[in-house]
Amino acid sequence: MSNWFITGIGGMDGSHLCDWLLDKGENILGLIRRTSTDNTQRIKHVLDHSNLTLIEGDITDSGCINNIFQDNKIDFCVNLGAQSHVQTSFDVPAFTFDVNTKGVLYLLETIRLFSPRTRFLTASSSEQWGNNYSVDKNGEKYQDLNTPWAPRSPYGVSKLASYELVRVYRESYNLFACCSVCHNHDGPRRGSLFVSRKITLWLASYQQWKKEQNDFTLVFDDEDYIFCRNGNRFAKLRLGNIYSKRDFGFSIDYIRAMYLMLKNNKPKDYVVSTDVAHSVKEFLGEAFNYVLNDDYKQYIIIDKAFFRPSEVDYLRGKSNELRKDLGWAPTIDFKSLVRLMCDSDIEALNEKETPNRQEKIPEKV
Ligand code: NAP
Repeated sequence: MSNWFITGIGGMDGSHLCDWLLDKGENILGLIRRTSTDNTQRIKHVLDHSNLTLIEGDITDSGCINNIFQDNKIDFCVNLGAQSHVQTSFDVPAFTFDVNTKGVLYLLETIRLFSPRTRFLTASSSEQWGNNYSVDKNGEKYQDLNTPWAPRSPYGVSKLASYELVRVYRESYNLFACCSVCHNHDGPRRGSLFVSRKITLWLASYQQWKKEQNDFTLVFDDEDYIFCRNGNRFAKLRLGNIYSKRDFGFSIDYIRAMYLMLKNNKPKDYVVSTDVAHSVKEFLGEAFNYVLNDDYKQYIIIDKAFFRPSEVDYLRGKSNELRKDLGWAPTIDFKSLVRLMCDSDIEALNEKETPNRQEKIPEKV
């Protein structure tokens, strides 16, 4: 049994990694921030597991990280703690740097000083490429580790800086330290501020509202709301740029890639991606067609408030090295991912008996 330290264990990827490692019989120490509301929702099903210990702390506190490494034997450290929202990084750039860059530096420094045999992985991001791409022999655009970086957000820059810090520590101090350069990945545990989850949550909520109306004849005569004949209304889904294309993967596939990278015989960075790009518009089309059997256009509003100050148009990975070296491959395609997320949100609402809860959908993409 090995000892794993996971930061961001309460997040989407961290919670899946926790499940994955517990299934393998590993021992986990998980870092949780102190917050005024419960941030252990995604791991509540394993909180009593005897192989899981949670510790309160923060990766922006170097003393806290030092103490954790001095008090515990840690074989593997996976850093999934981050300010992970790109648009938010324009609002809180300094905080984003503190968490995404200085946090990684503190972990690396601590490992160098107190635990140099610990294997370290941090999650980097396709946002580091911004609008840059390479072109393959068929004229298709993609990004791999030979594509020059050109981040277009404080988030992208913070992730690129930490990516370079990992390289410097690996080369200078001979640490087992590496980065999984992850393209977009989602799943039912995705945070509700991200566009994919925002869409599936809206659909689940709308479907439930529809069921609750005793006279459901739709009249679309308002910019902001969907009205039905009985006078009741439901706010339309407000979105930003739906034309940007992303490489949509499934979170569990991505944590499996991270696990394989840490078990590799040498520390090496890899791109993690499905190698297929779809637009947010395609996500909408697939989800609305699946849940409502209808076109999305009459249900949404394009709202400039949700546009980023600088957009990234096209991200599609090329993960051939990961597939070749470590035998990794994604298990879920785009259509199945969209359906999985829709089903999960619909099921969650059906399980609750409270009336329609659209107010729970956040205002931000
Ligand atoms: P997530 O759901 O937002 O989870 C982030 C986690 O980090 C949360 O548990 C959060 O805790 C924790 N955290 C934030 N600040 C922290 C701090 N100062 N100290 C300790 N923990 C902190 O993100 P995710 O989607 O699982 O992503 C995991 C990693 O992959 C992140 O580094 C992200 O940037 C990267 N990544 C994700 C994607 C993607 O599409 N999902 C793509 C590329 C890269 P709270 O719950 O208390 O906020």
